[in-house]
Amino acid sequence: MNDNKKKVVVIGGGITGLTTAYYLQETIADQKLPIEVTLIEASHKLGGKIQTIHQDGFVIERGPDSFLERKTSAAELARDVGLSDDLVNNTAGRSYVLVKEQLHPMPKGAVMGIPTKIGPFVTTGLFSVQGKMRAACDLILPRSQNEEDQSLGHFFRRRLGDEVVENLIEPLLSGIYAGDIDQLSLMSTFPQFHKVERDSRSLILGMKKTTPQAPKNQLSSKTQGIFLTLKSGLQSLVDAIEGKLTNCTIMKGVQVTSLEKEFDSTYELKLNNNEIIHADSVVIALPHLAVADLLHDKEYLSSLKNMPATTVATVAMAFDEKDVENSIDGTGFVVSRNSDYTITACTWTHKKWPHTTPEGKVLLRSYVGRAGEETVVDLSDAEIETIVLEDLKKTMNIEAKPQFTIVSRWVKSMPQYTVGHKQRVEEMKEKLREDMPGVFMTGSSFEGIGLPDCIDQGKKAVQDVLQYIR
Ligand code: FAD
Repeated sequence: MNDNKKKVVVIGGGITGLTTAYYLQETIADQKLPIEVTLIEASHKLGGKIQTIHQDGFVIERGPDSFLERKTSAAELARDVGLSDDLVNNTAGRSYVLVKEQLHPMPKGAVMGIPTKIGPFVTTGLFSVQGKMRAACDLILPRSQNEEDQSLGHFFRRRLGDEVVENLIEPLLSGIYAGDIDQLSLMSTFPQFHKVERDSRSLILGMKKTTPQAPKNQLSSKTQGIFLTLKSGLQSLVDAIEGKLTNCTIMKGVQVTSLEKEFDSTYELKLNNNEIIHADSVVIALPHLAVADLLHDKEYLSSLKNMPATTVATVAMAFDEKDVENSIDGTGFVVSRNSDYTITACTWTHKKWPHTTPEGKVLLRSYVGRAGEETVVDLSDAEIETIVLEDLKKTMNIEAKPQFTIVSRWVKSMPQYTVGHKQRVEEMKEKLREDMPGVFMTGSSFEGIGLPDCIDQGKKAVQDVLQYIR
């Protein structure tokens, strides 16, 4: 290392840390800045929760499988590292909600469960007449004067009633956060709904106004979906970034065990291989429980220890087409808590993402585990396979055992943004700025868990570092 250069260390080689390291390296090169970057990752491979397996011609995602196209930073990053041609949209198809043992098509025009078209809500079998009438009260209910954070459950129950929440909104949101809707923060997950109520009073009328209408001549079953992924798997994004990190020192299989301020306002990082490195600025791109461990003596970060994180598992099953009879036109379903099922969602991956599955095969990817229902993840692979298969058999005819099953456990991996999260994070970041200037914490535990949110946070960390160091 050249001692005249400033040193930046990025801790954590998940998508947030990778984004930080990559855009930092690019800006340093563009602006010829005297800065060197080191990325330190505890495991032996980069990517964190992004992990793709290629088996028997299938492309199987253990963790995330796609990202929202409308949040543009993920596709931009893929293009920046040379993967433009690999980006692919999902096949748009109907998705379903499983309520009390029955699959119901998602009502057309529902945005996160909020109706923007009246007809499909009137005719859906998802809700009772009383439930529909209660939801319609949204049209006349006054707006709340509450400007404080509140739970998603409280907010939606007040506007639309319990039944719409339990049969539609909860399973949809649970699919994203694996959380408890009555604990999750409105302001940290969907602040836009609070804004809709403030601006338009009624959620239904407000969403109708702000949701773009699909062009009239669009054939809904044939158009592209709203998600993007990469044809050879999201791991290819990680590999491409790694390939581009030619001016960054990458340390894999090395854990940072302590981070302390030195007398000259630099930082000392101790590693589990007994190495010590020094830095002028540090980006901590770790899950909150790892941050709490690393900076365990910082009282002002103590709420990180109490921030919940849910344990989930994804279960991918490969079959021969002849062994699975699923004539339902669609891409998968989410499961309401009032159904007697263990799986919380299932994607008919071969239909949603045809590039993942060889001709003549079927790929089903189910989820187990959500807030309050996590113990299933402790079972053996064989036990989980049996439970998932039994659930799947209730919705489709499956004649044979899977050709193979891949169970991927994600222990305490889904950070839960509970009520007050935004304010707690702001306060912790402010205190960290005062106590350890030049040290920044970022990533999925703080300002958004989706891949584009993590990428946005990684880019913001680049600005923070450069502003501090220059
Ligand atoms: P991580 O990926 O957790 O990376 C943190 C890294 O830090 C890890 O590699 C870890 O090994 C390393 N580390 C930990 N401690 C240390 C230490 N002391 N020293 C050095 N390194 C350390 N998002 C979407 O947008 N779309 C999806 O479809 C989607 N599906 C998901 C499915 C599952 C099952 C899960 C779990 C998440 C999903 N998400 C999805 C969310 C998204 O994948 C994550 O929020 C995101 O990948 C987190 O990235 P990160 O870099 O912040 O953290």
